[in-house]
This record gives sequence, structure tokens and C-alpha cells, in this order.
Amino acid sequence: MMQTLVGHTSAELTELLTLKGLPGYRGKQLGKGLYTRFLRDFEGFTDLPKALREQLAQEFTLAPCTERSIQSAPDGTEKYLLNLPDDEVIEAVYLPYDERTSVCVSSQVGCPMACSFCATGTEGLARNLTAGEIVDQLLFMQAKHPEQRISHLVLMGMGEPLLNLPNVLKALRLIHDEVGLSYRNITVSTIGVVPAMEKLAAENLPITLAVSLHAPNNALRSELVPLNEKYPISRLLEACRDYVEATSRRITFEYVLMAGINDTEKEAHELGVLLRRQPLCAVNTIPYNTTDVAARYQRPTPEAARLFREIVASYGVNITQRYEKGHRIAAACGQLKRSTLKLGSTMRPLPLLSEVPTEAVPEPAA
Ligand code: SAH
Repeated sequence: MMQTLVGHTSAELTELLTLKGLPGYRGKQLGKGLYTRFLRDFEGFTDLPKALREQLAQEFTLAPCTERSIQSAPDGTEKYLLNLPDDEVIEAVYLPYDERTSVCVSSQVGCPMACSFCATGTEGLARNLTAGEIVDQLLFMQAKHPEQRISHLVLMGMGEPLLNLPNVLKALRLIHDEVGLSYRNITVSTIGVVPAMEKLAAENLPITLAVSLHAPNNALRSELVPLNEKYPISRLLEACRDYVEATSRRITFEYVLMAGINDTEKEAHELGVLLRRQPLCAVNTIPYNTTDVAARYQRPTPEAARLFREIVASYGVNITQRYEKGHRIAAACGQLKRSTLKLGSTMRPLPLLSEVPTEAVPEPAA
């Protein structure tokens, strides 16, 4: 049973070394190698004595993620399928833009939220990712692109990050403290797990919170997002106001436009009315990426999407369309499906929210 190093702070690495009777003061170098040089094997730690590197290789696994496959699109987007130590598979996306390089990472293997239009949601949850597995998606992609500094990270891959909050928070701290990304360049996207939003607000991190709204009324939202039954729109928007008050950070509402479902003029007016007095918020529309989840969910025409935005904007609400990448390699939002990744993985039913862990789980043995 070997412990994995990625997922530990430099201070924790120092402790781990000491526990094994190894020179603890090397923990800092180890952390630098993992988080700023993106090393993925012990031989790369040329600043450590060879004997120590060999001892480390005997005692520890370096990182949890290994490559399964990488698919590239002409626009530079890359979809990574990564193997985890227990043979689960997750997906992460590398998104180079002119002015920034962004990565989209997963927070769970699968997702228990079962949103009716989302490919990941049809699959159920296998398990939460550890902090190390979340961070390692970034490290893995950065190691593949040494020339291109990753500047932005979004937690919009598989899973509901706020159902895995302790591990997500630990991962964000590592990404900030050890890798050196600014919290302002990190976005956490949630379907609206209200109690966890309150916990996140209390952390007061200057990250961006994105809330997947998708509908302006409860009847429609409950059809798309089962969790709406538990936390209806009024309760969700109240939690958003509390979040803004606690953090002074703007909230982004995500609104996936689906033709004839939530993209008509009626919904646009309702959304404008709903959000016109909501403080410090902006809406991001995302045209639905067609999946095989259900035939009734289709992409809107660009004209319908433009009209929708114009109407919402007429209420004084900030609204923009998310620039899209990776559609051709099914690397875009909500197209990540476990069954195409792995056969026979275990699925669990939707957990009760009271079962959501409050402590970070330890990094498992490899
Ligand atoms: N669970 C989190 C984050 C993961 S999904 C959340 O729900 O916010 C990131 C975004 O992609 C969410 O807004 C989600 O609703 C959206 N999405 C899901 N399926 C999609 C699809 N087929 N096309 C476009 N966006 C989709």
C-alpha cells in the first residue's frame, strides 16, 4: 500500500518524509518538483540525491493520474481521458485561448445530480475525487504543455464540486499556494447545493462561483434539475445573495439554451424579471451540446440565442454567450459520459445530502 504524493502540501510532504525516516527538509523540494516543475517520475528530481530518489520510489507513488487517451480538435482543444489508481476514468479538457490557457477539470467520477439533459448525470456517481486527483488533472495537462502556462481553471467537468467540498477546497488551496494560480482565475460551478454554498461563502475565497440556473421558473427548472425540488429558485437566489454579501464576488448564472425548452421569449422575459434586482450577477448562455441523452434536447439557432440575450439584457441584466471550444471532440460541457469511458463501474444511487462528507478523505493508497 503506497501513498501518493500529489495532493499533499509541501508541509505535509515534509511530515510524510519524516515519518518514513527520510530527510524532512527535502519536502519543500519535493513540493516544488510536483507543483512547479510538473515532474511525473522520481528520476526527474535531479536536485535530490539519487539514493533518496530511489527510496522515494520504493515508499511512494508520485501521482494518481495516468494517460488513457488524448483527443485534439483543430482549435487546439484537447480532451484527456485519465486513468485513476482504482481503474476509474475521468475526463479533463485543455483549452488554449489567445490571451489565456484554461483547463476544465472533474470533481467526481460521474455525478449523482441526474440533470435530465446532462450526459454525466445519466450515469450516477461512482465516487468523489480526492484533492490529489483534482489537482493532478491540472498537473498532467501542464506537463504535456511545458511551453504554455495554464492560467485559468474551471471545475466544470464531471461531477458536482459542492458535493465534494472538502476535497475541492483542499485542491483549490494546493492550486493557489503550491502551483501559484490566482484564486481570481478559478471558477467553481454548482447546480445549487445551498448548504454547501453557505460553507463555501464562509471560506471567503476570491474565486468565481458559477450557478447552473437553466430556467426562470420552478416548474421548468425541476424538470431539468431534480435538485430544484429541494432548493427551489427563491431559496437558491437567496443563497446567491448571501454569497455575494459574504464575499463581494460576482456570481455567474449559467443558462444552457435548449431549443423550444428554455430559450423562448417567454423564458427570456421571466429571466430578466427574476434577475433584474439580483445583486452582482451576470448570465452566461451556453448553447446545448447535443448528446444522446434525450432527443428533445437540441441546440438553439444562433438567432434564437441572440434574441434571448437581447430580451434579458433589456432588463439591465448582464448576459453574454460563452465562447465555445471542443464541440467536435465532445469535450464540451455536459458531454462527458462514463459509459463511453469504462464498462461495469459501480454506480450508487443519489446520496442523501446529509451524507455529504464534511472532512477531506485521505489520499488512498495506490
Ligand atoms: N455540476 C456542476 C458542474 C458541472 S457541468 C454544475 O452543474 O454546474 C458544467 C455546466 O455544463 C453546467 O452548467 C451544466 O448544466 C452544463 N451542461 C450539462 N450538459 C450540457 C450540455 N449537453 N450542453 C451544454 N452544457 C451542458
